[in-house]
Amino acid sequence: MKYENSRPFAVAQDQLDPLRSYRDKFHYPKNDHDEEVLYFCGNSLGLQPKTVETFIGKELDLWKNKGVIGQQERWISFHEKLEPQSAKLVGALSEEVVVMNALTVNIHLLLISFYQPKGNRHKILIEKGAFPSDQYAVESQLLLHGYDPEESLIEVAPRDGEKVLRTQDIISEIERHGDTVATIYLGGVNYLTGQVLDIEAITIAGKEHGAMVGFNLAHSAGNLPLKLHDWNVDFAAWCTYKYLCGGPGAPSGIFIHKRHHSWSGPRLVGWWGHDKKTRFKMQPNFDPIQGAEGWQISNAPIMGMAPLIASMEIFDEIGMLKIREKSKKLTGYLEFLINNIDLDISIITPENKGCQLSLVVNNGEQLFKYLSNNNVVCDWREPDVIRIAPHPLYNRYSEVFEFVKLLDKGNSD
Ligand SMILES: *Cc1c(COP(=O)(O)O)cnc(C)c1O
Repeated sequence: MKYENSRPFAVAQDQLDPLRSYRDKFHYPKNDHDEEVLYFCGNSLGLQPKTVETFIGKELDLWKNKGVIGQQERWISFHEKLEPQSAKLVGALSEEVVVMNALTVNIHLLLISFYQPKGNRHKILIEKGAFPSDQYAVESQLLLHGYDPEESLIEVAPRDGEKVLRTQDIISEIERHGDTVATIYLGGVNYLTGQVLDIEAITIAGKEHGAMVGFNLAHSAGNLPLKLHDWNVDFAAWCTYKYLCGGPGAPSGIFIHKRHHSWSGPRLVGWWGHDKKTRFKMQPNFDPIQGAEGWQISNAPIMGMAPLIASMEIFDEIGMLKIREKSKKLTGYLEFLINNIDLDISIITPENKGCQLSLVVNNGEQLFKYLSNNNVVCDWREPDVIRIAPHPLYNRYSEVFEFVKLLDKGNSD
């Protein structure tokens, strides 16, 4: 696509945008003067679909009017409503996904099953500078099994002087540690740099060496098309409040490949993972559901799930391929504009990316404050990164244009 650094061009792109009507399906935030802000924080908290109130209202009414009858009629299978759409979203079979709990909780539950150290094979491979919650979770899992992170944690880092990982380096590390690696657990998209990893290539390398391979898809789900089943990934989890617009603290999705569904290994269980036909017979012997649902512990958080059902309906209606198509153009425009003005800014996000661009700026914190004072909602990560994520469902080309104008002005002021 050929871009132009001009407001009329940006406005024309908005008019040509096949997804332009979707912005009206979201509540768009405003400042204290009732003017719309420039919201580029969809990688942190997605905006609220306008249908959310109705969706929650329905459950509140049912609870109000029928009490526990709502449980029997509707809520007992409420989480199932999300399965076909979640499966499509991540490229899975319906029985390979379920929505439950929060993300880090699910990471622990998955690692309890998919980190099974034995003899020489006791290491977990992650990326250096992983999201802190993942780092903590993985280290605590090592300690839980009596291993020392100093010896059992492999952290793959970018090369000296580089900001992002090379797939080949990840694969070389897998090969170097060979059959001492029990589990590989990486972010599908790095939260800080926005780099997209080659899930398929990494999974192939990991499986070749007998490791379990899992991904944190917090920044991938709703951002990129995925094919978890075909890529042969063992397990994955994602949150739904970032790109997916499920609302603050919305429950997390998990994926467990079909080949693990008649699981007899370690797992923390609860009654919601029990076979549905006999769950309410209240018997002491656990009889798991054969599928991702078998990893459920508790009954579903209905009020937290209702907004997610509202937003997943929108994602499902469009489909990730079309969402991605717009996202490439929109983020591509942001990149084009930044590269076309005279700024002391470098984009650390590599070619292989989703919505987000991560900018490294010398006077970054000052510039970030300037942007915030001028209605831009984006975020700042110590020591020097500004993250900008235009969201294909509600951001406009003209907003990207206005943003870069501000960036230019703030930088030269
Ligand atoms: C957002 C994010 C989390 C957040 O974890 P919660 O349990 O939902 O609080 C964890 N890991 C990564 C990589 C994230 O991007």
